[in-house]
Amino acid sequence: MQYQRSSTLFKAAQEVIPGGVNSPVRAFKAVGGTPIFVEKAAGAYLYDVDGNRLIDYIASWGPMILGHVYEPVIKALTETAKKGTSFGMPTALETQIAKLTIDMIPNMDKIRFVNSGTEACMSAVRLARGYTYREKIIKFAGCYHGHSDSFLIQAGSGAVTFGTPNSPGVTQGTAKDTLLAPYNNLDRVKAIFEEHPEGIAAIIIEPVAGNMGCIPPQDGFLEGLRALCDQYGALLIFDEVMTGFRLAAGGAQERLNVSADIATYGKVIGGGLPVGAFAASNEIMNHLAPDGPVYQAGTLSGNPLAMAAGLAMLNALNDQPEMYDRLDKKTERLHLGMEERIAGTELPYQINRFGSMISLHFTNTPVIDFATAAEGNNDFFKAYFHGMLKEGIYLPPSAFESYFLNDALTNDDIDYTLDAFERVIKGL
Ligand SMILES: *Cc1c(COP(=O)(O)O)cnc(C)c1O
Repeated sequence: MQYQRSSTLFKAAQEVIPGGVNSPVRAFKAVGGTPIFVEKAAGAYLYDVDGNRLIDYIASWGPMILGHVYEPVIKALTETAKKGTSFGMPTALETQIAKLTIDMIPNMDKIRFVNSGTEACMSAVRLARGYTYREKIIKFAGCYHGHSDSFLIQAGSGAVTFGTPNSPGVTQGTAKDTLLAPYNNLDRVKAIFEEHPEGIAAIIIEPVAGNMGCIPPQDGFLEGLRALCDQYGALLIFDEVMTGFRLAAGGAQERLNVSADIATYGKVIGGGLPVGAFAASNEIMNHLAPDGPVYQAGTLSGNPLAMAAGLAMLNALNDQPEMYDRLDKKTERLHLGMEERIAGTELPYQINRFGSMISLHFTNTPVIDFATAAEGNNDFFKAYFHGMLKEGIYLPPSAFESYFLNDALTNDDIDYTLDAFERVIKGL
């Protein structure tokens, strides 16, 4: 494959945009080489500016769960745009999507829409602090909750890819209020609570981690966090920016049957437009402005285009609950196929999967937290990534990311991917 045009565009971008990209992981630093510039996409395929077709296993990091250029979303967008693109005033669309999300997700009475997952998580933590009158939060090493200051403490995703887990610019004052525990380690969380019995406002967690590869919670882990929060009067925040509307219509809360006090959303909820949201009970949400003292606002929050796209996406998901099973089966097909092919080699490997999230780690140690994810051999990963790319398959350009399958992928696409996989791993 040729990447002439991508390469030229990347050079031009680097002159005017830091690193040539508007979000670091896109720059391919973890794998080397030139980022691919996209011309367009359709269904399960990306078409780059050099005319290559790629099978897409990222789905814009999750949102395109039904494939690219999904007709009902495009139709909603074009029809809405003709009526105006932003008013800074309420529209009925906002109530419609709020009602639908509250119906789909368990356990929540009200939802506030924002513009990104980062904003949702940042606001959820402020709300938790304002509600509990406590300052500290517990987060897990390798979990990513957006790039707001409190979360850039051993964050996953791009933050670890770049070896700057503690970003300059985050003050000591902020960092001291973020207490860290390893994922899947209930004892450490217990110890933190014992040390600060009245200091912890909330635990924030990815209920299935997706920013250090895919790491499912071990049996009893989330239930244990729930019980500790109840015991110590802290709130449990599920960051469902990845898992929401992906693992089930009701996200991880539904799929894993554990209730959060606040849940945050992003990615799928916007149908490909910049949307985030956070939801909670009336009792908690009553603390949010304008009803309560915890301030949160946004000029473009609830933007009509974003709401129309999100509403069309969520309606489509709500109308076809069988889609989730189908998507899980496709992911299982990929998983079993990869397992079968790699098991016969000498390569160290772990494949983690939950629902339609999956990741391959080049290590023999079970990957259950950040430390074990970091044991993966990055030289193998780089060669694997570029090998697959040459075969026309676009995987996340970092070992610390999950693949996100989309419903436009056919079994043929997956089988083609598996054939390519076999060739690529033989060459490692
Ligand atoms: C992507 C992501 C975020 C941040 O969302 P943005 O829209 O990129 O700000 C937060 N939490 C999780 C779990 C994510 O995967």
